[in-house]
Amino acid sequence: MPIRATVWGENVHEQKNKAVADNYPIGMHGQIAKLLGEDSNIVASTVTLQDPEHGMTVAKLDETDVLLWWGHAAHKDVDDAIVERVVERVWQGMGLIVLHSGHHSKVFKRLMGTPANLHWREAGERERIWVVNPGHPIAKGLGEYFELEFEEMYGEPFSVPEPLETVFVSWFQGGEVFRSGLTYRRGAGNIFYFRPGHETYPTYHDANVGKVLRNAVNWAFNADRHAELMKAPNTPVDKAIEHIVERGAKLSHHPK
Ligand code: ZN
Repeated sequence: MPIRATVWGENVHEQKNKAVADNYPIGMHGQIAKLLGEDSNIVASTVTLQDPEHGMTVAKLDETDVLLWWGHAAHKDVDDAIVERVVERVWQGMGLIVLHSGHHSKVFKRLMGTPANLHWREAGERERIWVVNPGHPIAKGLGEYFELEFEEMYGEPFSVPEPLETVFVSWFQGGEVFRSGLTYRRGAGNIFYFRPGHETYPTYHDANVGKVLRNAVNWAFNADRHAELMKAPNTPVDKAIEHIVERGAKLSHHPK
């Protein structure tokens, strides 16, 4: 069975900015899904902020193995209950790939538990993306580095928790560096943050970026779901594995 990838697009800049609309006539989400579709092992679909429940209905999440998230201008418009629903799915094993300005999305910040702040500059600089973990599945098929001629600069410090793995480090023409490909695990969910993807540049038409995204979907996929991780069951004294006698003080009406 192919991996079911859902691309979540904010779809706001495409409606308001001509440069973005020209770069992405089918929407950034549409172009990202197109890149994923080049892998016969991935079936990609798209949803947007404007869809009912932001496209993150229970039914849609039920058929999502890996979720990709691009947002920027409307992070605050994402309903907190939907954020919680998405986060719970990640904890249970759904893969999550957070793209570019998605570092400030409610979903990412909730999963990181940190501000996820960084330095930035919009000057159409060259970005050189170094593969610092060549054996990693997300870097499969890439050279020592690849370049994007036009990108927004993101600079360190990036206030996220220490990652599980660092796959890419970016250098920018202005001299800054940034950890641009980071992996995390939250509960049973695999998470990948990938830096490039500013809306006014043609980043999601780049062949290497496409390769990274397809690799990342394959890496993040986990066929298992662990709904039991959402529960906190009590094990009473008479169900303890070893025989124990209850002692010490406790609340007489312990909440069940
Ligand atoms: Zn940007």
